[in-house]
Amino acid sequence: MEDEKTLFQKICDKEIPAEILHEDDLCVCFKDISPQAPVHYLVVPRKPIVRVAEASPEDRNVLGHLLLTAAQVARQQGFDESGFRLVINNGPDGGEAVPHLHVHILAGRPLEWPPG
Ligand code: C5P
Repeated sequence: MEDEKTLFQKICDKEIPAEILHEDDLCVCFKDISPQAPVHYLVVPRKPIVRVAEASPEDRNVLGHLLLTAAQVARQQGFDESGFRLVINNGPDGGEAVPHLHVHILAGRPLEWPPG
């Protein structure tokens, strides 16, 4: 039978290993496997929303929860004063590689703007 779970659903369900920093009934936060900054985490909804452009009004609570959780993790890790960046890549030009919505948390060095 075909496995229809996304990669990040498998991480949320602990079928694929990841270094998890936070989990609750709506989302999981884990370390990115290929960090682009000294600190690089992902916050992923358990619900496999494909990308932010495909979220629906009924996802309002989940979307808000992702941002609040990202801020909470950044605060707990001590990056609220030095600063951090949240990123959501959407579609090919947005740099999206994994079609399961995720918020990147980047920190640990001054981050350039604009991004490449
Ligand atoms: O926003 P985008 O889709 O490009 O980001 C996907 C992210 O998922 C990448 O930063 C990649 O390193 C990460 N990833 C991961 N663990 C995997 C596969 C991808 O942390 N097993």
